[in-house]
Formats: sequence, C-alpha cells, structure tokens
Amino acid sequence: MRILVTGGAGFIGSAVARLLVQDRGAAVLVVDKLTYAGDRRSLRDCEGRHGFEFLEADICDTPRMRDAMAAFRPDAVMHLAAESHVDRSITGAADFIRTNINGTFSMLEAARGYHASLEGQAKARFRFHHISTDEVFGSLGPTGAFSETTAYDPRSPYSASKAASDHLVRAWHETYGLPVLVTNCSNNYGPYHFPEKLIPLVILNALEGKDLPVYGDGSNIRDWLHVEDHARALVTVVERGRVGETYCIGGRAERRNLEVVQTICDLLDQRVPAARPRRELIRFVTDRPGHDHRYAIDCAKIETELGWRQEQSFESGIAATIDWYLANEWWWKPLREKKYSGQRLGLLAEK
Ligand code: NAD
Repeated sequence: MRILVTGGAGFIGSAVARLLVQDRGAAVLVVDKLTYAGDRRSLRDCEGRHGFEFLEADICDTPRMRDAMAAFRPDAVMHLAAESHVDRSITGAADFIRTNINGTFSMLEAARGYHASLEGQAKARFRFHHISTDEVFGSLGPTGAFSETTAYDPRSPYSASKAASDHLVRAWHETYGLPVLVTNCSNNYGPYHFPEKLIPLVILNALEGKDLPVYGDGSNIRDWLHVEDHARALVTVVERGRVGETYCIGGRAERRNLEVVQTICDLLDQRVPAARPRRELIRFVTDRPGHDHRYAIDCAKIETELGWRQEQSFESGIAATIDWYLANEWWWKPLREKKYSGQRLGLLAEK
C-alpha cells in the first residue's frame, strides 16, 4: 500500500501515519504545511523508517500536489489537513475557508488528474478518502444520534467549512467519477493532541495548578473516541470501504464536558497528589457563541459492514492519555511555552 496522508504532522494524521508505517508496512508520504498545529516531532516513530517520506507543502498549491501524486504514485490519498480549532474559526475564519474549502478543492483537482492518468489495476485501486467531523450535522437534543443519512446543519465557521469540503468531495464523485470515501467522526483524544484542545489543556493546566475554565455550565455533551481507534477505523475504511459511501465513526462514549474535566482532575489527583483536590480549579466561563449542545454518533454501519470496533473504553483511554502527557513533557512543554498567536488559548474548545 502506498498512501499519501495530508495533515500527517497533526494530531490524527500522525496517528494514521504511525499505524500505516508500523502495523501495515505501508509506504507513506506525509504532506503538511507545518502550521502552528503541525509538528514533525509527532512523527518521530515514522521518521527514518523504510518507505516513510515527508513533504512540507501547502495543500492549496495544486501544481505541487499534482507533482507529489505523480512522483509518489499513491494507491490512496487520506486527506486530513485542515484548520481544526472551533474557537479560532470564530475569531478568524479566513484560514478555515482557505485550507478546508479551497485546499480540499485543490486536493480533489490534483487527485482527479492523477486518477485520470492511471490505468488497469492502479486505476481500479485508487481511493480519495476525505476525513471529516460529526460537527457538520449540527446539534442534537437530549436523544437521537447522527448517522450517514443525517441532514447537514453546520453552525460554526469550522463546521461550515468542513461541510462545504464534504459536499465538494461528493460532487467530485458524482460529477467526475473520482472514487471517494467520506468519514465523519466524533471528538478524538489521545497522545500528541495539541495543548489548546480541551483534554490536553485540562490535563496540563490541572498539573500546573492553573484554572480549568469550563464553558457555560459544563452540560454540553460530546462523544469521545481514542485517536488510535479512529486511526484504525480510517485505515479500515480506506482498505475495505465501498466507494462513494460515507461512514460515521464514534466512541459510544457520551460525556458532559464537566464530567470529562472532573474525571481528569480525579485521575491526576491519584497519580500526582496536590495540596487541594484539583476539582477546586474548575471555573465556569461565558459560553462559546453558537455552542452545539450535544453530539452523538450511530456507528452501526462501519461496525456491521466493515467489522470495525473501538478497543479503548473512555475510562481506559483517558487514563492512558493522562499517563502519556505525564511521560512526554518533551513534546508538550515547548508548545505550551509558545504564545498561541495571542489568542485566549481557545480555552475549552472540544476540538
Ligand atoms: P490538527 O489541527 O491537529 O492537524 C491538522 C494538520 O494539518 C496540521 O499538521 C497542520 O500543519 C496541517 N495543515 C493545516 N493547514 C494546512 C495546509 N494548508 N496545507 C497542508 N497542511 C496543512 O487536526 P486534527 O485534530 O488532527 O484533525 C485532522 C482532521 O480530522 C481534520 O480534517 C479534522 O476536521 C478532522 N477531525 C478531527 C476531529 C478531532 O476530534 N480532532 C474529529 C473528527 C474529524
């Protein structure tokens, strides 16, 4: 297998690259612009391995994407590169429109040209896998779950830009016959998660005795999936998914934000005792505008059709994640010390 992974220096992309290189023995070309969210250190388990290559490039640069595909000759493109932080999309949407919409258009055009140049088995094998979010579906009430047939209803600049990119991908399939796959996944957590996002931010603030700001009253509900389970789902879809189909991926682990923060406090108290219980650091702050109330995913299709199952429960996954942050200060410390573009650290964005 030869896989071109965009956004492979990011949180999920690096987990996908590790899985492909270490477990599947695939040849992998990571294409990444190395924005503030990308870090080659997240790929240290892949660097130097046979078949692993890295290209620092912008996905919006269509000629470069064409050249990269022509030179690397992938069997599949897994497209993860994106601006991914909801709070940043609210304070400045331009990069989200550029990378998530124009960048996806650029990747689709490059892939269309490359696919047209292929023949025989190579043409039959090629897939363009677009990685997206459950946020495109909007917000749920107290019951129900998103599935592959849920109508789109994005509510933040981030989710609107991802929704637009999903529509482009489907259009390139219907109009040009590009063999595409789309996946929409719920909130991920795990190693190498950029420390502006909810779970790493809470772990690290709690460790350092800093305030733990929680949006609103903390009652917003998210479904959580360990990043390595997501990476296995993505590789399963690219290997065995049916062309033209969408697969929803989730963790069947709905938790209130406040519950997540409290769980982290309690687990940290057990591991690194503090003078006072860390729950006392929790502060309720003004809610995010347009904050979706609840997300939940019905992932029956990928489970029954492709046999994927998550391996980590939320309880074991969150404990392992805390242990990873405790053991890997070399990774997060330099990122914490950087000023995240003068923003308010995107305090409690879930993604
Ligand atoms: P991330 O922000 O950690 O990583 C994004 C990567 O893309 C970074 O390495 C960055 O340098 C790169 N990038 C950004 N703009 C680029 C450009 N113009 N050209 C090339 N590279 C560029 O994001 P993530 O959390 O790993 O998310 C990856 C994908 O998965 C995104 O498409 C996101 O929408 C989707 N997703 C994320 C979650 C989640 O919980 N994090 C859930 C579902 C879906």
